[in-house]
Amino acid sequence: MTLNISGRCLCGSVSFECSAEPVFQGCCHCDDCRRSGGSLYASFVFVPTETLLVTGETHSYQHQSDRGSTMTKEFCPTCGSQMFSSGSYSPDRRGIRVGVIDDASWFRPDAYVYASKKLPHTPVDPETTAYEKMRTT
Ligand SMILES: [Zn+2]
Ligand SMILES: [Zn+2]
Repeated sequence: MTLNISGRCLCGSVSFECSAEPVFQGCCHCDDCRRSGGSLYASFVFVPTETLLVTGETHSYQHQSDRGSTMTKEFCPTCGSQMFSSGSYSPDRRGIRVGVIDDASWFRPDAYVYASKKLPHTPVDPETTAYEKMRTT
C-alpha cells in the first residue's frame, strides 16, 4: 500500500506531508496521552523522522516518560491542535496524531500500548494486540 499522508491543524497554520510507509500504527492509553489530547486515548502513526515535511511553526512541550525518556509533544500555537510526538528512545521516528490526518480511513492499529491504563469503557478491538505498558519489541 502506498500512502500519501497529508494533514493540518484545526486553524490550518500548520500542515504536513509524508509519503513514507508508517513504521508503526498504534493507540496509547497512558495518562500523558490522555491528558495532552483531552480524549480517551491517543492514536498515532509513526513515520521515519526525515520523511515528515512540516509547513508552519509548531510549539513543543517536553516531559519525562515513566521509563525516563524525554517525550516531545508538538502542537499548533494558534489553535492548540496536538500534531506530532517523539521520544528520545527512538529519535529516528516521529508520531503523527491520527486525528490531524486529512484521510486516515486506512488507519488500523498494530497494537495498543499502556492497555493497563485504559479507562474501563473505552471501546477496543479484541483482535488487536494489547501491551500492558510500552511495546517491548
Ligand atoms: Zn492551528
Ligand atoms: Zn501514551
